[in-house]
Amino acid sequence: MRCELCPHKDGALKRTDNGGWAHVVCALYIPEVQFANVLTMEPIVLQYVPHDRFNKICYLCEEQGRESKAASGACMTCNRHGCRQAFHVTCAQMAGLLCEEEVLEVDNVKYCGYCKYHFNKMVSCCNFGITWLLNYRATPKSFEFSIHFKMGEEELLKKQRT
Ligand SMILES: [Zn+2]
Ligand SMILES: [Zn+2]
Ligand SMILES: [Zn+2]
Repeated sequence: MRCELCPHKDGALKRTDNGGWAHVVCALYIPEVQFANVLTMEPIVLQYVPHDRFNKICYLCEEQGRESKAASGACMTCNRHGCRQAFHVTCAQMAGLLCEEEVLEVDNVKYCGYCKYHFNKMVSCCNFGITWLLNYRATPKSFEFSIHFKMGEEELLKKQRT
């Protein structure tokens, strides 16, 4: 059994609509992947994934000397607008580059991943969670979404109450 979307074997696999298998995490983070049944998350529907994703090279595989695997499966790209770094979902998961972001307007969760450079940049900016959230609210158009930082949110609510 191998995942259709990445070269890694560990983790739970579910059936895909083309008779193969895929990780649930790979399915969640590749935007075009759908679940035929959202409750069981099975089967995983791969037919809407653009072919382009299967041609991308995982830069994390390359960085770690797994060149032979870098081109297998499908890649997600850094969610930072304009960044073209591509990587396997599970490679990003192992490197700690995945996150769930709350979309404030629609009360929904967006599954995002960033290249190392943008992830570190984002984390350092969010150490000032309150300022960042305030900025977001003041200029919603300049940020697509906001990251839900419990600390930041609670502090912010306290501030608004007083
Ligand atoms: Zn996978
Ligand atoms: Zn990889
Ligand atoms: Zn990036």
